Amino acid sequence: MSCNHHHHHQPNASDQSYPELNYGPGAKWIKSLTQGRLGTFHGGHFSDVNLSSVLFTHRVDNAKNVQLQVWSAPGLTKPTFEEAMKQKFKPAKKGDSFGPSCELICRSARYCGLLLVTGTNHWWKVSLTIPGYWQQYERVQFEFDPGCEAMVYTTDGVPLQGITGGFGVDRRVEYIIPKEALEQGTHEIVIESTCNGMFGVPWNGDTIAPPDMNRYFSLASADLVVPNQEAWHLLWDFQTLREIVDSVPGNTSLQNKALVVANEIINTFERGDASDIRRCRKLAEQVFGEGWQEMGEDVYKDDKKAQIWGIGHCHIDTAWLWPYRVTQQKVARSWSTQVDLMDRYPEHRFACSQAQQYKWLEQLYPPLFDRVKEKVLEGKFHIVGGSWVENDSNMPSGEALVRQFLFGQRFFESRFGKRCETAWLPDSFGLTGAYPQLIRGAGMKYFFTQKLSWNNINVFPHSTFNWVGIDGSQVLCHMTPVDTYTAQATVGDVVKGLNNHKNIESSDTSLLVFGNGDGGGGPLAKMLENLRRIRATNNNHRELPPINMGHSVDEFFDHLAESTVSGKKLPNWHGELYLEFHRGTYTSHGSIKKGNRHSEILLRDVEYVATMASVLKPKEYSYPKKAIDDCWEKVLLNQFHDVLPGSAIGMVYEDAEKLYAEVAKDGKNLLEEALKILLPNSVPLTADTKLKSGTSLSQIASVNTTPFRRRDVVKVPLAGASPSLKSAVGQVDADGKMGYAIMDNGALDASVHHSVGSLHASAYTNGSNHFVLRNSSVQLTISDGRISSLFDVQQGRELISEGATGGLVIFQDRPNYWDAWDVEIHHLETAKPLEFTNVSVVSHGPLRAAVKAEIKYGNSTIIVTISLDAVGATVKPSSRSLFVFDAEVDWHQRHEFLKFELPLNIHNDNAIYETQFGYVQRPTHKNTTWDMAKFEVCGHKYADLSEYGYGVAILSESKYGFACQGNVLRISLLRAATAPDADQDQGKHTFSWAVMPHEGHFLQSDVPMAAYLFNSPVYVRYLPQEQDALAASTEAPLAVQGAPNVFLETIKRGESDSFDTELSSEESSKTTTTVVIRLYEAFGGHAKATVNIGKQFSVKKAHVTNLLEDEEAELNITNTESGPSVKLDFRGFEVKTLKLVLGTTKEGAGARKRNSWVSIDGARLVTI
Ligand SMILES: [Zn+2]
Repeated sequence: MSCNHHHHHQPNASDQSYPELNYGPGAKWIKSLTQGRLGTFHGGHFSDVNLSSVLFTHRVDNAKNVQLQVWSAPGLTKPTFEEAMKQKFKPAKKGDSFGPSCELICRSARYCGLLLVTGTNHWWKVSLTIPGYWQQYERVQFEFDPGCEAMVYTTDGVPLQGITGGFGVDRRVEYIIPKEALEQGTHEIVIESTCNGMFGVPWNGDTIAPPDMNRYFSLASADLVVPNQEAWHLLWDFQTLREIVDSVPGNTSLQNKALVVANEIINTFERGDASDIRRCRKLAEQVFGEGWQEMGEDVYKDDKKAQIWGIGHCHIDTAWLWPYRVTQQKVARSWSTQVDLMDRYPEHRFACSQAQQYKWLEQLYPPLFDRVKEKVLEGKFHIVGGSWVENDSNMPSGEALVRQFLFGQRFFESRFGKRCETAWLPDSFGLTGAYPQLIRGAGMKYFFTQKLSWNNINVFPHSTFNWVGIDGSQVLCHMTPVDTYTAQATVGDVVKGLNNHKNIESSDTSLLVFGNGDGGGGPLAKMLENLRRIRATNNNHRELPPINMGHSVDEFFDHLAESTVSGKKLPNWHGELYLEFHRGTYTSHGSIKKGNRHSEILLRDVEYVATMASVLKPKEYSYPKKAIDDCWEKVLLNQFHDVLPGSAIGMVYEDAEKLYAEVAKDGKNLLEEALKILLPNSVPLTADTKLKSGTSLSQIASVNTTPFRRRDVVKVPLAGASPSLKSAVGQVDADGKMGYAIMDNGALDASVHHSVGSLHASAYTNGSNHFVLRNSSVQLTISDGRISSLFDVQQGRELISEGATGGLVIFQDRPNYWDAWDVEIHHLETAKPLEFTNVSVVSHGPLRAAVKAEIKYGNSTIIVTISLDAVGATVKPSSRSLFVFDAEVDWHQRHEFLKFELPLNIHNDNAIYETQFGYVQRPTHKNTTWDMAKFEVCGHKYADLSEYGYGVAILSESKYGFACQGNVLRISLLRAATAPDADQDQGKHTFSWAVMPHEGHFLQSDVPMAAYLFNSPVYVRYLPQEQDALAASTEAPLAVQGAPNVFLETIKRGESDSFDTELSSEESSKTTTTVVIRLYEAFGGHAKATVNIGKQFSVKKAHVTNLLEDEEAELNITNTESGPSVKLDFRGFEVKTLKLVLGTTKEGAGARKRNSWVSIDGARLVTI
């Protein structure tokens, strides 16, 4: 070995040989300190010398360059642009404060529920003079920060973009001055600012606390600025590098390289003159790749397989910590901002749901709607969801969910020529197992959600899966692993999209839904910049998953379907997506729950009678489609996922209650108009109705809108009643003015005179503490204020478990945080039974027996009347009678929960709860944490605990919260949270529930029918003219035969029918008359049903359609003597829609002028 060292040779750059001597300290760093150093480069303590000091080249705010004039709208009014421009503006300047956020008429400071409105509105005329030498700069901006949200308009009222003031992550205060204005040297705009922060105006800064009524905002900035564009790009470079350092897991070469480069950038920056910044940016290319920025959106061009698909989004709660009218502004601000961003970032795509928000935009901001429409047609602004709003999915009825889609998809189709392909409910508090079938029926097969990441007990095990509904229908579901629909598009978000994916073994692709919501305006430019850098990094390094842009959510799902062999590689999840959180929302705000249920049922009845009237009497009546649709839109709007659940501020409920009041008024008028057509000259029979003397039995008739035969105890005024009518009266009120009679299938039962039947009801007491309600089927005993016995008389069977009692119960209700949302599992440890006190017998029978109790609890009064009628719950021969509980509550508790419970001598591992178009079973035990989590659940009209041979159900007409813990079945009645509404549920409530013992297991029972009847009033009518009464008939024209488990849910006119009476004869000859019928299987088994169509309907064709009423298959119509019929097969819980095309006449004028095809002959004339 020879020695050929060159001891005296000085090393130079080209000399790659390894030096022999080394007296230096070496390059080893203390990584954590270097990492910490990155925090000193922007803002903070060194902002006068670090990158922050060079972000702006010029900034002026003097009156010479920026002239401001302001006009504050009076009180809390929200004038239009045109109205505002007519007002007198006065000079204003930066630093001025304005507000208040609310005007109040409250008496007590803390529990002020009487806020008038939030959000005073202020209009600014801005006149800018731009220094001539600024023309040399790439960009000039007007920076406007009112500390709250604002909207920039052109001087002729075209919305340009939103502003989000303040210093949160969603700050967006810059408006870019157009190039022409720079050349011209002047520019004018108009700004509308609204005094509410991103999350309303919270009390003490706590997100969910009630609004601060007196917050002022000040104008922090109204500056004309020249941003140093290179410095901003360096800021974004640096932030991406820092995110890589902080978010890429493990000790990878990319992460270390990013830290080295970021550190070198700090060393190189010095005082940040232009050449320093250029050198710094060059350094960043070591991570992002050389020339990445010049590629622009082409950075995404290499079409390698992306694992993360980015889509911009802005989740705007249609009402929550602000009312609907404020949302209308949020929509306009956010969407104008996004349209503007699309022009600067060609890869940017934005997905937006909720037809209602598009409709508001169209009505209130037509020029902006046109810009949005342009982007929709260009394929950049994507319609998703297909529904009217992002609704709660626990409580709306099945038919209401259908209408969410029907109204949503029809709106999208009418405005944009296409429907949505992906259902979209990222924030709804649990998702019903009815959904997959309904989503499919609404023309979609994909579903996006994420709320289950909020579960507070179990981690949901899948990210991409086949979601299989209660009937077996499936949709391809993606629950983004990023666990949010308002991602910030950081490196951490992109990494989480893969690392947090729960079933990467079957699919390794995720959707990144990014952008600020609720007034944050959606994605920020910096997010789009960040994503470009992340993708550029990925183009050179494998440690980051590849992200793509420029695609739609629909394309993402198409890719999932394709890459998983149409879902065959994916796991399945069967049944509901139960959210293990927010369980108090089934009960919070009782008035809204009641408004929802009662409106849904009223509209069902309106559509039914209006359809009958329009088909049977077309000359006299045309279907009021517009009025019905207006009612539906109000009901659908209030189903928004923070309104119906009771989790919004008080003023939202003032608006919601007003909408329900309008629906009740308009709906009742529509119902009355149609009933008057069907039963000519009839009026509703009430206690105030004055009967003509000699009124006969047949002059009292009823209309039954349910698909079931029914037998009800009804009240009839006695003054004026003829002997024949009196013969139907089996019981008289104490004052002798009203009689009780039995209405059987539309007519009064005259035989009551001889015998009230076997169900003779009675009420008696031992005179002090023991009360009994009894008929020959059931008996209920109240002893010492508690239900000590519930007894099946026919079987001799006691249903209350031994030693236990039932009745009202109070729980302490103090959830860990989300007050109006959550009832937490520990509330069950605090049960305090309440006694029925001051009990008295108020009705002795034999048709109706009742006892009444008056309970004082705390500051509240609870009056409950418990009644038992001499009829079964349904007309099924073995049907037991209901014990009906009618409650009037004056509720003044706080943080307490009122329930009603029955400890039953019945055992089953599962209880049954009605859900949309079927039912769901949930465990009664706590074997696993998944079972424990369901300690409070949503049900609709019934909840049932059954075992072989027997069961007991609780029926509800407006409550949705239930539970069954072991053998104790409960219905939840009232809560009292204080955030975000300080006065939630305070005051008067009336509601009812019923206890229904039944022979046989639920599956053999009539519980669903009884629950339907309990919710649907029988309409009792008085026909003052005897001849009208004779003409009335009670045969239902549409009836299901051969399948007692198939329910006829809805009868309406077809969506495509024309109801315009002004049509020209050419147009009207093309119109059709169709009747749409929705049926479903209610018990979970197959059925072969025959739908009989009355002869009054001249049916030409019958089709099965989807929920959107697109024809799918034509059915054979069988004609028999009793009329035409069609046959339908059902699988368990299947929903079917049937469209009957009725005959049209050649000469056909509009509906009103059309000749009748109905042969009118007396008895068959009116037929409900
Ligand atoms: Zn939301």
